[in-house]
Amino acid sequence: MTALETQTWSVQSLPGLINRMPKAELHVHLDGCLRVSTISQLARDHDIPLPVREEELEDACVVPEECRSLAQYLERFVIPLSVLQQPEALERVVYELCEDARRENVRYLEPRFAPSLHTRAGMSLTDAIAAVTRGWQAGARDFGLEGGIILCAMRHRPPEQNLEVARAGERFLGHGVVGFDIAGDEAPFPILEHLDAMQYAREAGYGMTAHAGEGAGAESVRDAVEVVGVSRIGHGTRSREDPGLLPLLRERGICLDMCPYSNVQTKSVSCLSAHPIRFYYDYGIRVTVSTDSRTCSDTTVSREMIRIHEALDFQLDELWQLTVTALEVGFADAACRETLRQEMAAEMRELRSGISNS
Ligand SMILES: [Zn+2]
Repeated sequence: MTALETQTWSVQSLPGLINRMPKAELHVHLDGCLRVSTISQLARDHDIPLPVREEELEDACVVPEECRSLAQYLERFVIPLSVLQQPEALERVVYELCEDARRENVRYLEPRFAPSLHTRAGMSLTDAIAAVTRGWQAGARDFGLEGGIILCAMRHRPPEQNLEVARAGERFLGHGVVGFDIAGDEAPFPILEHLDAMQYAREAGYGMTAHAGEGAGAESVRDAVEVVGVSRIGHGTRSREDPGLLPLLRERGICLDMCPYSNVQTKSVSCLSAHPIRFYYDYGIRVTVSTDSRTCSDTTVSREMIRIHEALDFQLDELWQLTVTALEVGFADAACRETLRQEMAAEMRELRSGISNS
């Protein structure tokens, strides 16, 4: 087989097409996406002791197959966070995330991070946000991405600290920062404890999202939508436990930014074929597909799409629809998202004509 034939075959196969199709990713945590080589280099450069030997580093950062819970999943962020306490480190890893995302043709990206987890070595919230914003702007420019940064409040942190995060990020709105989220261990720390921060962020003009309905039930989603007023939910896998919630999500156009493999790892769903993304999609609720964490979950958007194709029969047109939805609900400037959607649609048409002509 010639090189050309090999290329044609890989374009025709669905995994090859998925890898090439233009994509968008709305739910991805910066500290879950570090290259393992970057972790060891940052540790060396900044003299940060790592709790494992270099050859064990990858295993220490990737969630094991037999992961038991969200809490165990979150343990995988300890090492990456330990090397992300300097502005240059933050700037570097967001730039590398842009490069990694573009390599699989992600064109719209909203990386998220929690500034309050990066202040251990004396960096201020503002310095952390400024560093990530610089890295994002450089990466977006060099790799041709649109999107922006989402700041995460943390459920287990004091409410007043989350309010400070919302305040510190306000000056970056329109300059790299686009949204506000709340993340962390959901069940013991309800969103209602952090209403001040969430309301402040909403009024300041952040795009609003919240992790909900993953570690806790549907009432957590309802609180985020009805009390806080978010337009997007991170995961929301358990929303269908409350049948009354489903029409509400559909009618208000609330989007569930789902991460299928991560949801299996955290035991929010038992296996991929039981994942509710197909149910919500067919019900008419907006859904998108993301990685959550590229390194911790050892995945990419393409792999997530292939997983839901194999386990839940999502076809190419449906996967493209998830991408269009992501561009509709994204937090970056609307005109810019619409221009990108048209460009990506043209690219998609070209890909399709490549299939029908071959
Ligand atoms: Zn998440």
